[in-house]
Amino acid sequence: MSLIAAATPPRWQQELARAIRDPAELLNILRLEDDLLPAAKAAAKLFPLRVPRGYVGRMRPGEPNDPLLRQVLPLGVECNPAADFLTDPVGDLQAMTADGVLHKYHGRVLLVLTGACAIHCRYCFRRHFPYAEAHAGRQRWQDALNYLYEHPEVDEVILSGGDPLSLNDRRLSDLAQKLAAIPHLKRLRIHSRLPIVLPERLTDDLLAWFAGNRLQPIMVVHANHAQEIDQRVAEGLLKLKQAGVTLLNQTVLLRGINDSAAHLSELSHRLFETGTLPYYLHLLDKVQGAAHFDIPEAEAKRLLAELSTCLPGYLTPKLVKEEAGKPNKTLLPPRMPLADETRSG
Ligand SMILES: *Cc1c(COP(=O)(O)O)cnc(C)c1O
Ligand code: SF4
Repeated sequence: MSLIAAATPPRWQQELARAIRDPAELLNILRLEDDLLPAAKAAAKLFPLRVPRGYVGRMRPGEPNDPLLRQVLPLGVECNPAADFLTDPVGDLQAMTADGVLHKYHGRVLLVLTGACAIHCRYCFRRHFPYAEAHAGRQRWQDALNYLYEHPEVDEVILSGGDPLSLNDRRLSDLAQKLAAIPHLKRLRIHSRLPIVLPERLTDDLLAWFAGNRLQPIMVVHANHAQEIDQRVAEGLLKLKQAGVTLLNQTVLLRGINDSAAHLSELSHRLFETGTLPYYLHLLDKVQGAAHFDIPEAEAKRLLAELSTCLPGYLTPKLVKEEAGKPNKTLLPPRMPLADETRSG
């Protein structure tokens, strides 16, 4: 018994703890049929369901194909093995140089800080990642910092995961201070889906350690559909923008969710209203359990060509795929359909 009351956790941590993990509860809230339940339970055994309540609040009740629901609802097809779909499709395990340090590309190093995410996206290539062994836990940060001191050609650190913003501000602020003390570093980048799925995470403390630092702050958020960006999310992003953070977005191209020029164009416009520029449009990483989301490369290139005709250049994302062992992400050019293809199509 202590006379000092435990401090109430910040709102975002309460929301994180209240996230929905039971497929039956999710279907019930959305007034969806129970016939989806057995498959959802089976697939959730491979990769558990996890979704914040606020994100569920942006889904349309009664609509099994809602583009937000489709990103999180476990489906029976995930259990079917698919040829060419692997458990470590981007070769991250080979590239891991010290604990939690991924140094694949020139000048920038990615730190895997945690395996935890606020949401479990069914298409995620990390669904099979052995995080328990492979992330820079607090005691291992020193190894990562030593690695950075020894590599003066690195000028940018990317905090990643899992979701790095699932760590609390005290720990992140401690890390940011240690990074700022490394003289050759210039930029600090965060890759996070939390500003989209749990905007409460954008606390004043976060703005203070992230934007009040010697390093130039960049936030790469991850939105796949305009419907994800409601008023609350927009306010959070604009707050980051006003604090001087460069805001970019990456999207994964997903069958049945955002695979049309109309959807992607709407997303780009919505992002720009929030001060965010479209950065990458990723082809799906070929991870076991996600084959039903896949869009073939040729179709993706045609989609990008169509998108390019209806958006300004600065609102058109770069189409990329990740390939093990390459010095950068592979850029895929838009491909206009040939004249005879359009005629016969
Ligand atoms: C994507 C990625 C980066 C960042 O690449 P940019 O092209 O600079 O956005 C860095 N390291 C790893 C391992 C990556 O996968
Ligand atoms: S938030 Fe990112 S890392 Fe986490 S499950 Fe979704 S896509 Fe994967």
